[in-house]
Amino acid sequence: MKHTLLNLNEGSFPIKLDKKFKDLHGLEDLGQVKDHIIVKLIIEKFSRVLFLAKGNISVAIEADCQTCFKKTLIKLSLETDVGIKDIKYENVDKKEPLEIHYQDLENFNINDLVSEEIYLNFPSIVTCCTIESNEKLEEKSFNKIRPFQKIRDLIK
Ligand SMILES: [Zn+2]
Repeated sequence: MKHTLLNLNEGSFPIKLDKKFKDLHGLEDLGQVKDHIIVKLIIEKFSRVLFLAKGNISVAIEADCQTCFKKTLIKLSLETDVGIKDIKYENVDKKEPLEIHYQDLENFNINDLVSEEIYLNFPSIVTCCTIESNEKLEEKSFNKIRPFQKIRDLIK
């Protein structure tokens, strides 16, 4: 698998990413990736230490229903709005209200950011057996309300 590495300590911003991945390391536990993972992200530099990744990630993963074990297709279309900081801050940062993805900024791997976002937003319960969950599966988006947007609104 080809890794997409960026050096976020150099270069000009914003960085526009428009990518398709066949599969991504880190999603094996969730199920089998169907189709391509479509990644459309813009990385902005917010401050000297804080970067922001905004955009959309869509993926379809076939997972086993946790009740009847039938293959169930989970489609996600994620509105991504996440902070990025260097890995050296991971243990320094107090619990912030922001969602932060920590990684080595000099060898920043897009694949890891994308798979973490999918992992965090994947439904914890996969089932095809009840009417209620069928409705849920038909929803195209499992967006989580992220605190980040609110904080940005406050800064404006
Ligand atoms: Zn089922």
